[in-house]
Formats: sequence, C-alpha cells, structure tokens
Amino acid sequence: MTFKPDVPLEEDRVKTSGNRGLVIGGSSIGALILAGILWYLGVDPSQLQDVLGTGDASTSQSTSGLAHCKTTNEANKYAECRIKATAQSLDRVWGQQLPEQAKLQYKRPEVIVFTNSTRSGCGVASSATGPFYCPTDQTAYFDVSFFDQLKNYGATNTPFAQEYIVAHEFGHHIQKLQNTLGMSNYNEPGPESNAVKIELQADCYAGVWAYHAERDPEDNKVSLQSITEEQLAGAINAARAVGDDNIQQRSGGEVRPDTFTHGTSEQRQEAFLAGYHTGQMSSCPL
Ligand SMILES: [Zn+2]
Repeated sequence: MTFKPDVPLEEDRVKTSGNRGLVIGGSSIGALILAGILWYLGVDPSQLQDVLGTGDASTSQSTSGLAHCKTTNEANKYAECRIKATAQSLDRVWGQQLPEQAKLQYKRPEVIVFTNSTRSGCGVASSATGPFYCPTDQTAYFDVSFFDQLKNYGATNTPFAQEYIVAHEFGHHIQKLQNTLGMSNYNEPGPESNAVKIELQADCYAGVWAYHAERDPEDNKVSLQSITEEQLAGAINAARAVGDDNIQQRSGGEVRPDTFTHGTSEQRQEAFLAGYHTGQMSSCPL
C-alpha cells in the first residue's frame, strides 16, 4: 500500500479508451520497429504521427471504465486505479509547486487509460507503444498491460514503479507548460542530445513529485504514505531498466551511445533521485 487510505478519487479525472478491432493502416513493420523504440517511457510524437497516423481507429472514450476506482483503497489494489490516484496526487503537487517554483500556472493534462489501441492527438498508439505524453492534445496515455513488461527489462512491477512512470509522463506535461518539451528531437540522438536531457529532466520531475507527495500534511487528500527503502528501490530499478544502455544490452545489441534518446540507467537513477532528495525543480536542469 502506498497511498494514504480512504481518500475519495475524483470521478472523471481519467478517461478510458479502447478498440479491439483496430486496423493500423500504416506499415506494420514500421509499427513494430516503432514499438520497440518507443515503449520505454518516451515517444516521438512526430514519428507516431508518420507511421501510425493513418490508422483507422474509431476509438471511444468514456469515463465509466474506471468507475470501480472510488478511493485510494482501490488504488492500492489495482493498477488502473493507481494511475488515477497518481494523476490526482500529481495535480495536487504540481498545482502547488509549479507556481511556487517556476512562477507558472499549472493546467492539468488529460489522462487516458487504454487497452489494445487508441487514437491520440499524435496518431494511433497500440499497447506496444507503451506510456507516452502527447503534447498536441496535452494528454498522457497509459496501457496497464505495459507494466507487466517491466520485468522483461530487469525491473519488478511494483506500485511505486508504476507511479514513477505516471509521474515521468506528467513531467513531460510540465515541460510542455514550460515551453521546453519541443527541444527534444529523437532524430538527433546521442548522449549529449536534447532528447536525453528532456527525458532525464522528466525523471527528475517524477522525483520532485514523490518528495512532495510523501510530505503532504493533509490526510484527506490523495498523497503517499512514507516511501519505504524497498519501494524506493523498486522505482529506482524501473528507472534503471528503461535506460538506453540496459535496453540495448537486453535486446541483444551492443551499447551505442550515439543512438541514446533517454539516458543511461545510471543517469536515469541519478535524475530521479536528484528530484526525490530535494523536491526542487532547480535540481533538474536541462
Ligand atoms: Zn519520457
């Protein structure tokens, strides 16, 4: 259990979307390669548009899909409810911290939990795409089945690891509000690339959220209980698992820093912890 219990969740904070009969009109080879590149917490929206944007997806959105997520008690049990509670906690933290630390008004992103596939403002995404943030419609997209894939990359699928992933995608939304997200260009990768810098900052912002969510003085708001060493290790493992070097090694290839878009395991761990130890956005430089 990571959320303080018995706190009601907002009814319509998260929408659900899904379509089992999706036909992807673009190249299926392209889609497969894309999935391989994109699943680990970051997506190049322009590529999504190019390769998957022609899909014939008549997805339906509804708010009823998560009706069973009534309180943080469900969030401590079910992954989809955990996404909902994490979004609410992120709204609360950034609603306070963004004006305070960056003199910017927080505008919350839309959150969509989908199964199989969904149409986004950045094109059609499938489950294999993994979680992503689309700046065009300012929406974070999550497929719960992605969390199970964490173990393929050496991480364990723990609640706090899932929350880190949600917080990372919100980190991209914060960058969108700061007008820096557009710097990222996956077509120009490399260890010093803007793509890597943007991804590491999003990891750090996830840490900033955790710092404040754990220290919320109010018991009747969605917030975290004290994070145990074990839970922290789980999130750190997830951050490490999605490092470029780890993914390249586990995919059977050599480590090629010139193709990095997200940073190494070491860098991702450090970035998350920098935010988590300070709670300050200033510890997350680009
Ligand atoms: Zn990312």
